[in-house]
Amino acid sequence: MFSNSATSSQVMFSSSSSSSITNQSRPLPLTILTRHSHSSRFAVLGAGFAGLSVVWHLFKHSPKELNLKIDIYDEVGIGGGASGISGGLLHPYSPKVKPLWEGAQCWNESIKLLRIAEEASLSRDCQVRESTEQYMKAFVVNKRGILRPAMDMKNMTKLNDNAKTCLPCCRVKTLNNEEAQGLLPGVLLPFNTAFFMPEALNINPRHYLEELFLACENLVKESSSHDSGEKQLSLHKKSIHGLSEFEGEYDAVIICLGAKVNMLPEISGRLPLRTCRGVIVHLEPPDDTRCYPEDGPSILSDAWIAVESSRSLNVGSTWEWKSINSSPNVSIEEASKALHELLPKASTIYPGIRDWVFTGARAGLRAMPPLTPLGSLPLLGCINDFIGRNRSCKYWLFGGLGSRGLLYHGWLGNLMAHAVLSCNEEVIPSELTSWKNIKPKY
Ligand SMILES: Cc1cc2nc3c(=O)[nH]c(=O)nc-3n(C[C@H](O)[C@H](O)[C@H](O)COP(=O)(O)OP(=O)(O)OC[C@H]3O[C@@H](n4cnc5c(N)ncnc54)[C@H](O)[C@@H]3O)c2cc1C
Repeated sequence: MFSNSATSSQVMFSSSSSSSITNQSRPLPLTILTRHSHSSRFAVLGAGFAGLSVVWHLFKHSPKELNLKIDIYDEVGIGGGASGISGGLLHPYSPKVKPLWEGAQCWNESIKLLRIAEEASLSRDCQVRESTEQYMKAFVVNKRGILRPAMDMKNMTKLNDNAKTCLPCCRVKTLNNEEAQGLLPGVLLPFNTAFFMPEALNINPRHYLEELFLACENLVKESSSHDSGEKQLSLHKKSIHGLSEFEGEYDAVIICLGAKVNMLPEISGRLPLRTCRGVIVHLEPPDDTRCYPEDGPSILSDAWIAVESSRSLNVGSTWEWKSINSSPNVSIEEASKALHELLPKASTIYPGIRDWVFTGARAGLRAMPPLTPLGSLPLLGCINDFIGRNRSCKYWLFGGLGSRGLLYHGWLGNLMAHAVLSCNEEVIPSELTSWKNIKPKY
């Protein structure tokens, strides 16, 4: 993914290990730059759902005459954190199928980004794809829908009521046992009822992020040929150790470091975020006769089953609170513990999975925001006051996406880009910036 060469289309990649960012001259404050010199330079820290969404929206909404240079920094590369390993399940509901805060808005904006990534994927030269089969395996979006069985008699009335007020963009249909069997032969419903979201999606997160990055590159190329301002995008494989590294080099720094944001010295221990490690196990069928039904939906129950194909299932996820282990690698011991925890839960709903063969595991660290009366909302906003920096460079936080990063990243990336470009935090709804009033207990 990374190389040291720069292409003529102003899309550049570098693999830098030096401690200083560049030796370029100190830029003017953003407001002055946009008004007079029409040049801005932004650093985006992290190339997960948050980072790439904000990059795409920054290029999309920047004025045509603006010279805009964006440097992305990620120590691993695209999808190197929780985004790259996530289950890829996308729907706008709580576990009780109640619409989440601004669920429709979030859903629509995420769908837009998924389409953009799919279009970028299709625009690739066919010869680049080694084989059709390989391309199919690397799907961006899997449109099978998601089945949510009722797991608890106590909540059944609540679930039924919530299903009646579902969002038109992502419907929730109530199914009886027979209907559910028709959809997924072999499914076992503990309370004879399931809620089916036909429009809900299952994406391949790593492939999605790679194609979203390609869409950013394409946008830069298009803008460079049509707009009067020059646009540049560079991806640097580099570990960030503190915000002081960026002082004087950028007009704005947008921090999208996921659960590792707490490791920055300026922020460490001061955000109301808790970390939680999750392991996902990968299973394959024992033989050709016991595959998952061809169009069978993914399942959300006490454990979820995300369907990659009829021969490939991901089952997740564990919840290890307070972990600081962000490694995607899973030891044999950790994998075996996860398998023992997840398999009984998954097989309660889909018993056939008991025969499936374990073929690997991966893990990630979630950044969990505090619970508010509106649910667990991500943390956004300008953090200059918070970190005590009254400098020309604006520092912005886009974090705390919790376990719903796919749902939130589209709309919030758009909001964040508008806030950065206009240098105005007020374009962000106060529900997302009010975390600054909370004293962290963690
Ligand atoms: C097991 C599991 C399953 C999940 N399943 C789902 C799901 O099905 N649907 C859903 O919507 N959400 C899911 N999530 C949640 C989702 O993955 C997160 O909400 C989302 O990935 C957060 O995105 P992010 O961009 O904020 O962080 P990340 O994806 O973690 O991105 C941060 C990036 O910053 C980089 N980075 C970190 N520190 C540094 C540093 N010091 N220097 C340089 N680079 C650095 C990392 O390499 C990484 O690429 C799941 C999470 C887990 C753990």
